[in-house]
Amino acid sequence: MTKPDFGFEDLIHLSDLFRARQSIAPHVRRTPLSFSPSLSDATKAEVWLKLENLQVTGSFKLRGAVNRMLQLDDAEKKRGVVAVSSGNHGRAVAYFAARMGIKATICLSSLVPSNKIDAIKSYGAEVKIVGDSQDDAQIEADRLVEEQGLVWIAPYDDLRVIAGQGTIALEVVEDLPEVNMIVAPLSGGGLVSGIAIGMKQIDRRIRVVGASMDCEAGMVQSLKAGRPVTVGEGPSLADALGGSIGLSNRFTLPIVQAYMDQAALISEDELVPAMQLMFRGEGMVIEGGSAVAVAALFGGKIPCMAGKKIACVITGRNIDPERFEAAVARDVRAA
Ligand SMILES: *Cc1c(COP(=O)(O)O)cnc(C)c1O
Repeated sequence: MTKPDFGFEDLIHLSDLFRARQSIAPHVRRTPLSFSPSLSDATKAEVWLKLENLQVTGSFKLRGAVNRMLQLDDAEKKRGVVAVSSGNHGRAVAYFAARMGIKATICLSSLVPSNKIDAIKSYGAEVKIVGDSQDDAQIEADRLVEEQGLVWIAPYDDLRVIAGQGTIALEVVEDLPEVNMIVAPLSGGGLVSGIAIGMKQIDRRIRVVGASMDCEAGMVQSLKAGRPVTVGEGPSLADALGGSIGLSNRFTLPIVQAYMDQAALISEDELVPAMQLMFRGEGMVIEGGSAVAVAALFGGKIPCMAGKKIACVITGRNIDPERFEAAVARDVRAA
């Protein structure tokens, strides 16, 4: 990869994660890290679940969004914010904008499930549905920034967002100092970047594994190409993971490239069994975007897990109940 004209090492450090943690603490839940007997039995490892499905707004995205939005100045607050999202980032931005008493506009593609759209609207945000991909929604957001002066709240490629997501790593190490590995879903890479900065600067031996869908995986294909590449977007149960990493990606690609130890690729067929395992074994409803990390553990994609202490980030729960029922619960009852 052609070297970027600056190193991210100069721009974000462990101390930024600690600072983020202090800032967001009043607004964000410190979620439990919970031992999972069912996943441990299935993997012969000691598996702990970082339960961001219990986070306010139903996903970890609130951490990064809050850390970013707390840094808005008064003039920016007056102008209001705009975001592009596969659903959960938009929900976090809309929620926190309502708490701050500022205006939010969320641009979504037609692929975003209706339950996520309804949640965003319920916080009073303005929703714009544009085109069939996040790249299309981005064009509208860019226009609103340009013409109306709205303030752009990036979903992943922003150091303040990355630092917010990285607070997950600090909490995991506090609760399980002997952790050997952390597995998290990987899409735009804000989550894995933040976690990797935390883990690698605390202890380089902690392995960081990112789990992605095996088709149209923007980050994985960009890592292969050594530069940001655009991927297509289609319907998937892992709707939270759709989209490219942005052709002008500045941070998440170099950070993931430097720090992530392994990418685990998951097929569409592996999502439902992982969701069933979580439902049956843990009584938890998780969305498809979260299920990739469970599937990575469960499906034997990761070498040398036996006996290791592994933290698995359960990123969100925002699946439409009817869709969950049809895809996951019906089979469980029949079984
Ligand atoms: C956004 C999201 C991810 C992926 O996070 P990135 O920072 O884009 O890599 C994973 N799971 C869920 C539920 C999400 O909403």
